[in-house]
Amino acid sequence: MTFIDQWLRTDIRNINAYHVPSAKNMLKMDAMESPFGVPEELKDEFLEYISYSEVNRYPDANANELQATLRSLMDIPKDFGVLLGNGSDELIQLLSLACSSGELIMSFEPSFVMYELVSKFAQLNYHGMPLDENFEIDLKSTLLAIQSKKPKLIFIAYPNNPTGNSFDYDVIKEIIRSTDALVVLDEAYYAYSEKSFLAEIKNFSNLVVLRTISKIGFAGLRLGLLVGSQETIEQLNKLRLPYNINILTQVSANFLLKDRQRIVSNAKIIINERRRLYDELSLIQSLTVYPSQANFLLIKAENAKLLLESLKDSRILIKGFAISTQLENFVRISVGEAKENNVLLECIKEFYG
Ligand code: PMP
Repeated sequence: MTFIDQWLRTDIRNINAYHVPSAKNMLKMDAMESPFGVPEELKDEFLEYISYSEVNRYPDANANELQATLRSLMDIPKDFGVLLGNGSDELIQLLSLACSSGELIMSFEPSFVMYELVSKFAQLNYHGMPLDENFEIDLKSTLLAIQSKKPKLIFIAYPNNPTGNSFDYDVIKEIIRSTDALVVLDEAYYAYSEKSFLAEIKNFSNLVVLRTISKIGFAGLRLGLLVGSQETIEQLNKLRLPYNINILTQVSANFLLKDRQRIVSNAKIIINERRRLYDELSLIQSLTVYPSQANFLLIKAENAKLLLESLKDSRILIKGFAISTQLENFVRISVGEAKENNVLLECIKEFYG
């Protein structure tokens, strides 16, 4: 037995690490990133701007300028509190730290795997309510489960990853109303979706909204935000490590997020491409494409594993799911820009002949 084997908590030894496949020289369509990076015409100005960063000093601990930038980009009302994280992943973890060991996190299955993973880190229990065959919430059984299991935290991805749909707005409101849990509406894909729960924060004291800049062009900066009432955010802020948003992220985001027009128009391009991919892929008999409010599509595919391998051979990375799970025969594809989607479509059409 190695030192670490006998030293480490058994439950951590038994966790499967979060796997990120190598993407060298690949067309990345597996992780819902945006295809749009720093615009060519802004590169020199951007470099100059970040070169004045005082990297010898700790960053602004409260990231005040960045908070203002995000409030303006996302229309966050002045009287709501904002908590910044090193990616929204960090905030999901921070929320789990606020629970006492043995308490329950509830979410839906399938949904974002991080909710279950952080519950393990923090020695919490996890319950995933199964979605129905259209990946919608079964309200009746969810309300019963809330009554009997008394969750402390409920995560609802809106739109949901990996299914792409947004659950019914009124069903979610019922859930928020029915529970003493803190309900986290994870709006990672808000830019591609029609509705948001942001404005509902004033109506429900147990609601917070989680967002990220990862899906709108800035995954490499690692920046997420939790929005809630001032009191809620003030208390949760105690769990945030000081200086968790590094200076290069603060400075870069302040520069890049000011251009709201570009961010909105890039999202529109992706929404149009999503429609085109949906239409074209739906014509292929071997595929069932699910409607999406996000920047990816979930697809039920004949020979899903072979399709994945074939695309990999053509240097296109998409997401598959573990065997013996509900999504074994599905793939998830991030929507790219037109020329990327054309390459993808050509390869998929060739695969199915
Ligand atoms: N929430 C959802 C629903 C996601 O799909 C993801 C990323 N896949 C995240 C949160 C994490 O985003 P990040 O840590 O990059 O902000």
